[in-house]
Amino acid sequence: MNVVVCVKQIPDPAAPQALDPETKTLVREGKLILDDSDAYGVEMGLQLAEQAGGGEVTLVSMAPNNETSGLRTALAMGAAKAILVSDDALKGSDALSTAKVLAKAIARAEPDLVIAATEATDGYTGTTPVQVAQLLGLPSVTFAKKVSVDGGTVRVQRQTESGYDEVECPLPAVVTVTAGVVEPRYPSFKGIMAAKSKPLDQLTVSDLGLDAGQVGAAGARQEVIDVADAEARSSGEKVVDEGDAHQNVIAFLEKLKLI
Ligand SMILES: Cc1cc2nc3c(=O)[nH]c(=O)nc-3n(C[C@H](O)[C@H](O)[C@H](O)COP(=O)(O)OP(=O)(O)OC[C@H]3O[C@@H](n4cnc5c(N)ncnc54)[C@H](O)[C@@H]3O)c2cc1C
Repeated sequence: MNVVVCVKQIPDPAAPQALDPETKTLVREGKLILDDSDAYGVEMGLQLAEQAGGGEVTLVSMAPNNETSGLRTALAMGAAKAILVSDDALKGSDALSTAKVLAKAIARAEPDLVIAATEATDGYTGTTPVQVAQLLGLPSVTFAKKVSVDGGTVRVQRQTESGYDEVECPLPAVVTVTAGVVEPRYPSFKGIMAAKSKPLDQLTVSDLGLDAGQVGAAGARQEVIDVADAEARSSGEKVVDEGDAHQNVIAFLEKLKLI
């Protein structure tokens, strides 16, 4: 079974981030890392390919500056190969432009199953994978907390507010997975060394047969109008326990109408 996993490479969330005052988008100049959300998709893809007794995992990523660090991490986990789309024409891409690029790159890999995360850690519109499915004419199942494949059918436990739905659909399909669907493995030293020589195809917009006017700022239908600093949080109220702290806590919760 051939599984494509969408892998977003993002600025390290642990490092301070900045918004470009002119474009109002996230500055992505430094090293990018594998989005933690996508580590679950990579692991899910690897397990499903292993359970199917054959096939492989291909990674697909769109990122600026020919960035490959996050892809190398996912290759070190065990994916067989990767496709990276990087092109100056992609600057200012919104979610739909991103989906157009990913869909074209995914189609080249002729997958049986496409896996993505429910939402990325940095942009988190949660709209890209369903747009990819629409563009490829594939069914999509979102919020998977458990995934299994049986022949030509994918079965998904789809997380809901009150529990989960059992959903099944024919392959090929696009499935988005939640954090916790499986426990991602740590890349081994052997895996890290092997990742250095795994195939990584680097493509441009024209390689995909797309016109520069369809993607990037030129093709974007979303525009960030304004950005503002988040309000600084005021410090909380400190209660010194002199035997009556519980009454203070109760009064506080009552004030908020929580009890
Ligand atoms: C107006 C606007 C302008 C933007 N300008 C820029 C820009 O100039 N430069 C820039 O780098 N970004 C830019 N972005 C962000 C970029 O286009 C995002 O990648 C895209 O909007 C989807 O991000 P998301 O985090 O909302 O994805 P979500 O829909 O939350 O992602 C869900 C999942 O889809 C997959 N996925 C999403 N994006 C990618 C990807 N790029 N590669 C592989 N898999 C992916 C991952 O599995 C991810 O977890 C812009 C976004 C907007 C709205």
